[in-house]
Amino acid sequence: MSTSLILEPPQAPQAMLTAELPEARPVIQLEHIHKTYTMGDVEVHALRGVTCTIGEGEFVAIMGASGSGKSTTMNIIGCLDRPTKGTYILDGEDVSEMSKDERADIRCQKIGFVFQGFNLLSRTSALENVELPMLYLGVDAAQRHQRAMEALAAVGLAGREQNHPNQLSGGQQQRVAVARSLVNHPALILADEPTGNLDSRTSVEVMEIFQRLNREMGITLVLVTHEPDIAEYAKRVIVFKDGKIKSDRSIEKQRNAAEELKNMPIIEDDDEEEDE
Ligand code: ADP
Ligand code: MG
Repeated sequence: MSTSLILEPPQAPQAMLTAELPEARPVIQLEHIHKTYTMGDVEVHALRGVTCTIGEGEFVAIMGASGSGKSTTMNIIGCLDRPTKGTYILDGEDVSEMSKDERADIRCQKIGFVFQGFNLLSRTSALENVELPMLYLGVDAAQRHQRAMEALAAVGLAGREQNHPNQLSGGQQQRVAVARSLVNHPALILADEPTGNLDSRTSVEVMEIFQRLNREMGITLVLVTHEPDIAEYAKRVIVFKDGKIKSDRSIEKQRNAAEELKNMPIIEDDDEEEDE
């Protein structure tokens, strides 16, 4: 059975954007997290006691100067790395003491990743890129195909399934990456500077997809950005400074990417040669 992914824009986007979710279950619980990197004799205290809870259905932007600990935090949240000290509970499970293999399993099951540089396999089609995470979970071929097709359609890439990354624009590649992050129905999508390599309209298009996933599928999203205007598409902004949380606030009036796109000029992706 497939869960249908995304659908038409809602009737009243603004109303839905500001709707409060009832009592969210925690997806991320970080408790007194410390991370120290040792390089020879030098110790770098990258995180100095980070405590925070992110609930199901939240959309959080993480900001802060370079070196403030954003990526270190994302690596820990994404089970790519472990805290030196402190507890991390992901979707109800304590992952702070898990082995590398256990973390890899959890990562496949619960987390989707979107990176600044897209990180697609260059020699495979968009469809195969999106199917990949399901391969790791042993989803059968027919299901893989169907879910990947749906995910690509959901990000507006129906008809592009057979294109390789170099036959897609940057925005389209990032949409493939978003589709890939979705297919295992993760508890959480993590995005580190997902619009860092994109022009302004394309950035808003990607944020529109994130807002739709968050709103319509209730997917929990955590996104790192250094652009304040991108952070305003989220519902909550956490600012890091020197390895600690400096501020944590809700956004009163979330920007609405779908609405803004209506008033932005369309710059065609350079794919006019698409008609064969
Ligand atoms: P941000 O993503 O906010 O720029 P990082 O989390 O990457 O910050 O880095 C926080 C601090 O930890 C910085 O001082 C950085 O130099 C240091 N750091 C990050 N990763 C490593 C590593 N693998 N080895 C040593 N030091 C690191
Ligand atoms: Mg970083």
